[in-house]
Amino acid sequence: MSARVTFRPHHFLCALGFQGKGYSDTFTANMAGIVAQLRAPGGNAVEIEVTFQADHICAPCPHRQGAGCEKSAAITALDLRHAAALGLRDGDRLTWGEARARIVDRVPEGTLERLCTGCQWHALGLCDRALSELHARVSKRA
Ligand code: SF4
Repeated sequence: MSARVTFRPHHFLCALGFQGKGYSDTFTANMAGIVAQLRAPGGNAVEIEVTFQADHICAPCPHRQGAGCEKSAAITALDLRHAAALGLRDGDRLTWGEARARIVDRVPEGTLERLCTGCQWHALGLCDRALSELHARVSKRA
């Protein structure tokens, strides 16, 4: 994989909360590799380019249809809510460290229920927990 990865807007929060769940074994293995790169030492420097089409996480997804998605209505709605929350536009480039800082500044705890409406993974609570842990780490440092 190149040094820069592509993320559709809602995948910034998905990458934060990822704990090995996915739509298929190949999807999960690919996402695990991307997330491992972000969580490794130096991962905050990984550059991410925002796209509103299928991204590096979507690449092996069984629901992907070319650059689109068979669940495009729900996925587009997710992307629009996350893009508004994070202040992201198509083609923006930011590092994972900048993305994490933006999540802390702009995504308060307890907001994923609204931002992530329709996502099958939300009920597991993993993403809410990851968001709370990120806020807690930052407030300890302050
Ligand atoms: S609840 Fe779903 S859309 Fe929201 S961050 Fe988690 S995996 Fe992503």
